[in-house]
Amino acid sequence: MPAGTLYLVATPIGNLGDFSSRARQTLESVDFIAAEDTRVTKKLLTALSLPFKPMVSYFEHNRRQRGEEILSRLLDGQSCALVTDAGTPAISDPGEDLVALCAQHAVPVIPVPGCCAAVCALAASGLPTGRWCFEGFLSVNKKVRRTHLAGLQDEKRTMIFYEAPHKLCQTLCDLQDAFGGTRRIALSRELTKLHEQTLRMTLAQAVAYFSETPPRGEFVLIVEGAPDPSDEAQDDDRMAQALEQVKTRVAAGETRKDAVKMVSAALGVKKNALYQAALALEE
Ligand code: SAM
Repeated sequence: MPAGTLYLVATPIGNLGDFSSRARQTLESVDFIAAEDTRVTKKLLTALSLPFKPMVSYFEHNRRQRGEEILSRLLDGQSCALVTDAGTPAISDPGEDLVALCAQHAVPVIPVPGCCAAVCALAASGLPTGRWCFEGFLSVNKKVRRTHLAGLQDEKRTMIFYEAPHKLCQTLCDLQDAFGGTRRIALSRELTKLHEQTLRMTLAQAVAYFSETPPRGEFVLIVEGAPDPSDEAQDDDRMAQALEQVKTRVAAGETRKDAVKMVSAALGVKKNALYQAALALEE
């Protein structure tokens, strides 16, 4: 293990089986661990039968001073593993500043990859994954939040947001205001855990659904990018695909109304237009 290196060790976001053998080896071999919450990390080490190591805390409110201390130990030749409570350090987690500090002082930084909730949810979303942008948590400050969302109004890439359950309903309303109710969203909660779930619907449906079903667990929101106005062919393709699905559902015994409701939500096509097209097809 090279001396004076910072290792960014990803930890599970729920399922301990996702902790890699390389992550294990790294935690066993470093000189010390910098942890977001040392109590959480001690529990993890115990659950994984890993030996305790000298540990320091590194979190939002001590990151300046503690960052300097960690840097100084790294420059002295010690190796450090940075871990957070869950997932990949430095992604909406403490660590970004420490990595920047190491980069400034030419200290090697080595990622030891594992779970990142954003990427897991994106992969499972069913939305385009070719181009995407990570937006993290929206600010609780209303003005900052509004400006952030206004800046995303023409964003064509798939967007990724993090959200806590108690703020989810407000965030869904704000996303609907910014992007319109027909925009598709995939909501992944409790990823890798017992009650893991990915819901795919439109923003309007998500607002309605969560006004009746209290959100539980941590969420990742994957929001479809803005449609390209010049790309009418894509809209036509989606409508043709939706019509096919309605036809199949009706043939299987579903009412036209129910089939249109389900398919329009899943594919993000306008419900009325789809209903009229399905009607015309049958006539
Ligand atoms: N660094 C972490 C990562 O790589 O995913 C993210 C840390 S951030 C402080 C915590 C947020 O990640 C949560 O509010 C939630 O949006 C998301 N998250 C973490 N674990 C999750 C899980 N098991 N299921 C869904 N979202 C999760």
